[in-house]
Amino acid sequence: MNGSETRAGAAVPEAARPRKPRYRVEVKRVERLTPRMVRVTFGGEELSGFTWSGPASHVKLFFESNRPGAPATQPERPTTRTYTPRRFDPVSREIDVDFVIHGEGPASSWAAQAAAGQTLTLAGPGRSYSVDSAADWYVLIGDDTAVPAICTILESLPPSTRALVFVEVVDAAEEHALDAGTESAEIRWLRRGPDARHAGRELEAAVRTLELPAGAGRVYVACEADAMRRIRRHLLVERQLPREQLVTRGYWRLGETDHPDRDYGEDVG
Ligand SMILES: Cc1cc2nc3c(=O)[nH]c(=O)nc-3n(C[C@H](O)[C@H](O)[C@H](O)COP(=O)(O)OP(=O)(O)OC[C@H]3O[C@@H](n4cnc5c(N)ncnc54)[C@H](O)[C@@H]3O)c2cc1C
Repeated sequence: MNGSETRAGAAVPEAARPRKPRYRVEVKRVERLTPRMVRVTFGGEELSGFTWSGPASHVKLFFESNRPGAPATQPERPTTRTYTPRRFDPVSREIDVDFVIHGEGPASSWAAQAAAGQTLTLAGPGRSYSVDSAADWYVLIGDDTAVPAICTILESLPPSTRALVFVEVVDAAEEHALDAGTESAEIRWLRRGPDARHAGRELEAAVRTLELPAGAGRVYVACEADAMRRIRRHLLVERQLPREQLVTRGYWRLGETDHPDRDYGEDVG
């Protein structure tokens, strides 16, 4: 079992899982947070039925082909991608999603052209991460796709909990204010450069030289799936970190479209 996630959830194949509620939403605002990160604010009356499930949760976004002449998406196999709700406001019925613009891909391409008034379907939320408020410390490790998850975890920690955060981005222009109650958090930005084949390399190097604080803490890792496995193996096998202190998530995989949303790396360590 992977940290606070349940074994039952991880074992259920996608087709057998209960269908998540779906909401038709409209783009209310688009904000460029950095050259490669876009915040899209979705809103709509239907979101009165949406519930916030907690930090590092996810929603599914359904993308419709808008290329002229492209074959219609088969209704039973829509193009979906997985994203973290960064913020949900039940009063204004708005959800923020922060998209990394990484290049080719239905979600990245859609986010790069997103504009107010466009509509799409959103389903969720999925299960969230259970914060242990008694933990002595947190170490949060992720690439740019995990910034929303990391921010929602930081916002859920007791104010006095010490948090050390490693975020890997392409370059200095991607480093931005996290705006997530980070007063007691130490943020370390790592730059990997533009070559996606190097994804996770700086995170792995940082973890290998990291001296974990004393006491019983929690480590959360979310990044490219192979890099996540290398980091997981290092922590569990070489460092002998107790399994219950670690949660790892593969958020995308180099060369693979639509990486599964439940890649916990349990084949390692
Ligand atoms: C639980 C969960 C939460 C997530 N939350 C977020 C979030 O909040 N924000 C966010 O931006 N992403 C998030 N992701 C990651 C996102 O789902 C993937 O990056 C997804 O593959 C993007 O879809 P796409 O259509 O753009 O590319 P795809 O069609 O899936 O992939 C096309 C190509 O692009 C590559 N690729 C995909 N993502 C990246 C990347 N980030 N950098 C470089 N190359 C890439 C693939 O390897 C593939 O070769 C999350 C994933 C999970 C599982």
